[in-house]
Amino acid sequence: MVGGSGLSDGADCLVYALDLGDLVLIDCGAGSSWKQIYTNIRSAGLDPDKLHTLLLTHAHVDHIGSAAQIKAETGCRIVAHANDAPAVESGDPAFTVASLYGVDLQGVKPDHLMKGEEETLQFEAGELKLIHTPGHTPGSMVAVYETGEERILFGQDVHGPFSPAFGSDIEAWRQSMQKLLDLKADVLCEGHFGVFRPASEVERFIREQLASHKPMMPEPIPL
Ligand SMILES: [Zn+2]
Ligand SMILES: [Zn+2]
Repeated sequence: MVGGSGLSDGADCLVYALDLGDLVLIDCGAGSSWKQIYTNIRSAGLDPDKLHTLLLTHAHVDHIGSAAQIKAETGCRIVAHANDAPAVESGDPAFTVASLYGVDLQGVKPDHLMKGEEETLQFEAGELKLIHTPGHTPGSMVAVYETGEERILFGQDVHGPFSPAFGSDIEAWRQSMQKLLDLKADVLCEGHFGVFRPASEVERFIREQLASHKPMMPEPIPL
């Protein structure tokens, strides 16, 4: 974990760096903290200048805020789902909730669009499976990494919230959460609530989300 509240900036989602031979970053914070995340990646023994891929799990500003800057500085590849890509590219202040965060978001064009249900990204020393999990936004996705012993699920914002401002669909979300339960992941790296393990805790967290009242918010709230 190289970014998030207490690590980079309070407005940032949790940011995860993966060493798959190639360096992969999962989401990148709300936009003012790339310097700190960069330093944190270095402190973890990885080289942020060699960032290979920035995976954007969905188009909310707390997840994509630094993407344009990171692309410009490192030349990394940006991966996003096709359904959220237009908001990533335009920086649409309503869809990305940049207006709520008071961020002047600079859009960036993704280099690779995930389309369909599943896709596997190959890296020098491993692979990441992407799974489309619409609901929070239409282009939300998760990434799964198998260590050989553990199945690690990077599931940002699996808790919601939901608003028509960013195309939420609560029924689609329920189906997506069932997909995540079926994965039986050993570890869940979540976007705002931290890391859950073992598998029983991952399941408990997801079932708790499903069981709680999840209203469609007329006005979106940050997260
Ligand atoms: Zn979100
Ligand atoms: Zn978030």
